Formats: sequence, C-alpha cells, structure tokens
Amino acid sequence: MKIRSVLSAAVLAVATTVSATQALAQERFTLRLAETWGPNFPIFGDTTKRFAENVEKMSDGRLRIRIDSANKHKAPLGVFDMVKAGQYDMGHSASYYWKGKVPETLFFTSMPFGMIATEQYAWFYHGGGMELMQEVYEPHNMLSFPGGNTGVQMGGWFRKEINSLEDLQGLKMRIPGFAGEVFAEVGVNPTNIAPGELYTALERNTIDAVEWVGPALDLRLGFQQIADYYYTGWHEPATELQFLINKDSWEELPADLQEIMRVAMRASAYDMLIQSQHANAEAWASIKEEYPNVQIKQFPDDVFDAMYAANKKLLDEAAAESDMAAKIIKSQEEYKEKSRAYTDISERAYLNTMAEVE
Ligand code: CA
Repeated sequence: MKIRSVLSAAVLAVATTVSATQALAQERFTLRLAETWGPNFPIFGDTTKRFAENVEKMSDGRLRIRIDSANKHKAPLGVFDMVKAGQYDMGHSASYYWKGKVPETLFFTSMPFGMIATEQYAWFYHGGGMELMQEVYEPHNMLSFPGGNTGVQMGGWFRKEINSLEDLQGLKMRIPGFAGEVFAEVGVNPTNIAPGELYTALERNTIDAVEWVGPALDLRLGFQQIADYYYTGWHEPATELQFLINKDSWEELPADLQEIMRVAMRASAYDMLIQSQHANAEAWASIKEEYPNVQIKQFPDDVFDAMYAANKKLLDEAAAESDMAAKIIKSQEEYKEKSRAYTDISERAYLNTMAEVE
C-alpha cells in the first residue's frame, strides 16, 4: 500500500548528475495509517493528526501520513492484523486490545495498580520497556512505539454506591482488559460494549456501571446525567496508546525519515498526555458546575484489598503461562518499586504537603 511517488521529470533530467544519496533525499514516501478511533475523535484522533502534521513539516513534505479512521477501514479492532499483513503501513490503537491474539501485548498499555505516566514513560524509554515491547511485536513483523497517554483513568460511573465487596456481587459493568478480569475475580460481571451504545446500556440498566476514560471523554457520552457516583481509578493508572508500524514499511524509509518518525511519535505521545490533563481539568470543572448530583467516590478498603489480591493472582498465572510475560511482569514490578520509592518522596510528598496547607 506504500505509495512511493515517482521522481519528478525535472529530477529525472538531472538524475545522472546527482549522487545516489541526493536521489534518496528527494524520494517521497506516503505511509497509510489505520486508527481504531472514529473520525475527529477528540484527544486520540488529535494525536494522530498532530503526528502526521509534524512528520510532514519536519521532512519538508518528503514523508506524508494518510490517516484512515474507523469509519473508512471498518475494522477498529483489526488494526493489528491489517498492519501485520501490510494492508496498512501503520496503526494507532492500544496494545491491550490484542491480548486475545498475543497475550504479552497486554502489558504495554497500563496495568491495574501499575505505574503512573511519568514512571511508565521512564520505564519505556530508560528502563528497558521499549526493548521488551519490540521483542513481543518482532515475530509479527511490526514495531510498536508509545502513542499517547490518558493519565490516570477514572474508575467508572456507578448508579448505586459501592459500600462493600458485597455490593459488587453480580454487578454488570462495562470494563475491558485485565481490569475486567480482576473485577470478575471479585464477583463483577464484566462486559465490553462499543462506546456508541454505552449510554443507552447504562440508562436501560443493561449494565449497572461503566468505565470509559476520564471527564473529557466521559462527558461527551453523557453518563453524568444518569449516574451519580464517579469512582476514582485504580485499574488504568497510565493508559498508553500505541503506534504500530509494519517492519517492511519502516525499513524502506531512509534513516533520517525514521528518526523524524521517532521524534514525532514521541512528541505526539507527550502532547496527548498534556492535552488529556488540560481537557480533563476543563471537563471536570464543567461537570462540577452543571451536575451537582455527581459525587466523587473511592472504593472501600475491602474492595481494594480483594482486587489487589486478585490482580496478583492473575499476574502469577500469566507469568506461569509464558516466559515472556514473566519477564515483562518482573521488569515492570521491579521498575515500579524503584521508581515509586522516588515518586513517594517527590510528587506524593509535595501533593500531601499541598493538601495540608491549602
Ligand atoms: Ca478505560
């Protein structure tokens, strides 16, 4: 699907006099990118748009990214397969969507009780995370790069307050991924429902609770109109999206364009983290203002204790099933422990101080 543009007639005319390097420097490339998101999807879609704009500007138009949203390719959860097959050169999605195909892809989005965004980015770029991610994607002829972070996600909208573990028994909740499995261990009936149907499902009591992202993206779906209890998060403390790249497409790019890609992906990932912070703050201010019914809640201790134990059990099972999973879990756990010890005396200490003085 790569469209390599034909050298212009003018360039051809002088081609005999320019070196091969110069010819390569004139060559133009277009990479086609399939994203999981619908058209003009806020924040996630802004990330791919900014990435494409930056690549085009930095390469002086030598490299273009053409984005197809889900309405075009019709396979929001088919991005892994399409990029692997070379049907698209690139994808923008979330690694944990592929856990049914390749269980080890689960670990590169966000883990319940896992690292926060600064810790996880440090792990990716300085603590060996990128190398482990490449090891998982390499057999599938793909490269994967961090693609933008939501920050700590909210724990979800509940129509009834959760006062004990008992209140979770049989509760029907939209919550995907590993967190859904953890919830299942403590008695919840987790389900995954497409975003477009979530509001109706909650309104009609098809589900009792719904987890989506955070104020900015939740507000659009209208949950605040029908659920009063908004729980704080534990399950996705640093949800990282991903750029997927077909290895053959990547290797056709000259080294300078690969570097432009690397820098643009890294910059757009960071942009998404700060856009998330900004948009969530704005949206939370408006929810507080317009929906006084909404109360922020934290799950009670017995719920957290049970979920923490269930999470540990599931991680042990995953590690027993796959050496690669065991290696990733060990790397993440060790990194989190060391990194958190510093977070505790820096960010946490500062926020605790502020909570006391303000
Ligand atoms: Ca979520």
